[in-house]
Amino acid sequence: MKELGIWMNGTVVPPGQAVLPVNSAAVFYATNVFEGLRAYWNADAEELYCFRLLEHFARFRESMKMMRFTIPFSDVDLFDAVRQVLTANELREDIHMHLVAYVLGTGLDATSPTGVYINPRRRPRLAENSGLRCCVSSWVRTSDNAIPIRLKCGANYQNGRLAQLQAKADGYDAPILLNQQGKVAEGTGASFFMVRKGKLVTPPITNDILESITRTTLIEELCPNVLGLDVVERDIDRTELYVADEAFFCGSGYEITPIVSIDRFPVGNGNVGNITQQILHAYMDVVRGVDKRYSEWRTPTYHPVTA
Ligand code: PMP
Repeated sequence: MKELGIWMNGTVVPPGQAVLPVNSAAVFYATNVFEGLRAYWNADAEELYCFRLLEHFARFRESMKMMRFTIPFSDVDLFDAVRQVLTANELREDIHMHLVAYVLGTGLDATSPTGVYINPRRRPRLAENSGLRCCVSSWVRTSDNAIPIRLKCGANYQNGRLAQLQAKADGYDAPILLNQQGKVAEGTGASFFMVRKGKLVTPPITNDILESITRTTLIEELCPNVLGLDVVERDIDRTELYVADEAFFCGSGYEITPIVSIDRFPVGNGNVGNITQQILHAYMDVVRGVDKRYSEWRTPTYHPVTA
């Protein structure tokens, strides 16, 4: 399969040319912030729609603010850059992208010079009607006063990496992380939702989780306004996971990924739940533009809307 070109500081280059110096803060301390973006191919419209770019760019800038660095690109530049990397690669399929801002200077406190790259990648999905076998990790989610998960920097993902490797070594697909208070936080790269006693529940944004754009999409629009389901934001105890009727992860990359067991307790009857299925289908229809509502969330690649 053809290698995908990477947009780096204004030009699309082959992956072998998108390189960073070993002594940069970006490489040595993982001094970067990033966003995981998705674009969806709609065959009827012959269009590739990027989902909620504006919200991703806003969070990208919040992460940079917390890391005390800026990039020499406006949001308009970033819209153009995303379009440029997709068209240069002639993509007519679903694609995942990493949008990364990095610090080239050396040393722990380096904040400049900075750069940006966008790395498109093919990302496989689970087979339909299947789900993840999860465990509750013995690794604890890093806390807001240590390494805040609200800040989406590459270095933060070492916490999830430890949990993921442990989960795999123990025979599970993925971990669920608890925070330092022992309440459910999230997955390594996804928010957590469960259904209990007919209610859709997810932890609040103050429980050491990323402020997920997919989570907001579900809470504010898709669940109440498309499916007629309200979402309750509250603490979730570990033992609630063992008696949940349904559970799923959500995120730009994970989309809606069902969870079928937790610590070997089947979730519900161990199959993908009905509410999870409904949310999954509603989400995929909106992101792909099959459901034509929420057009403001979809940035077209090949037929840009001109003012
Ligand atoms: N939590 C973490 C730690 C993540 O990395 C992600 C993926 N960005 C999410 C949650 C989901 O966030 P979003 O819906 O904005 O992709």
